[in-house]
Amino acid sequence: MALLIYLDGELVPEEQAKISVFDHGVLYGDGIFEGIRAYNGRVFRLEAHLDRLYDGARALQLDIPLDRTQMTEAILETLRANQLRDAYIRLVVTRGVGDLGLDPQKCLRPTVFIIADAIELYPEEFYDKGLELITCSTRRNDPAALDAGIKSLNYLNNILAKMETTQAGVPEGIMLSSEDYVAECTGVNIFLVSSGKLITPPLHIGNLAGITRQVTIELAQQQGISASEELFRTKEVYCADECFLTGTAAELIPVVTVDGRSIGDGKPGPITKSLREAFADLTQSEGTPIYG
Ligand code: PMP
Repeated sequence: MALLIYLDGELVPEEQAKISVFDHGVLYGDGIFEGIRAYNGRVFRLEAHLDRLYDGARALQLDIPLDRTQMTEAILETLRANQLRDAYIRLVVTRGVGDLGLDPQKCLRPTVFIIADAIELYPEEFYDKGLELITCSTRRNDPAALDAGIKSLNYLNNILAKMETTQAGVPEGIMLSSEDYVAECTGVNIFLVSSGKLITPPLHIGNLAGITRQVTIELAQQQGISASEELFRTKEVYCADECFLTGTAAELIPVVTVDGRSIGDGKPGPITKSLREAFADLTQSEGTPIYG
């Protein structure tokens, strides 16, 4: 069945969901996006995703033509139109149609589209066995040049790193900051467990303020596990007891080797497992209802 896509106020069949070649989202990657999940008939952490979206828009002086209530309704409508209860939602706001120059002021109205589809997950065995990672040579964008907190449509930095991981035959890779601190992976945040404590790189190093990252910190605190933001380098990753990644699509996924070194005993660790279970419980029980 063809998907119905929300495009500028209308739900249209996917083959009719087209945008202009003069849209600055296409010409320059000028725009922002969100990746959101629905579980069990509810949209998970919708408010946090909207906070990040509207904050990013403010930073880019991008005037989203829908307020938060209208945006929430557009997301829920798209899910309902496609009769989805469990889904991945891609919400995109571009600068809109302009001329061939860079100037965003020439773009009169941002384009908004929402795709809601069945989610394609990592295979189950990746969660059971854990991932192998490499450290990518592509550095994460320097936050002084482009704030990683803005989830912009310009993802070439991450794509270049992703190409390295694909060529190495692994699903994800660590991206370092320009000063060689661990920042994040190509599309997920990273956590270490050392001596029973959770650490993750601080946001100022140049990583996305992941919603799953934030939920993970909250779950750790509920379980009495100390969680802090600290700078660390690849050596600390190699020597960690456990390592895992977090993201909307991947959820919490264990890492068992990095650059050929086993992490801990080379198997998913107990804290990773326990946080993963708590995350699964939470996603099944909270969120914005789609069907009232
Ligand atoms: N870092 C990057 C670069 C990402 O693209 C994502 C996915 N949005 C994340 C981290 C994880 O963020 P979240 O938990 O909000 O999906």
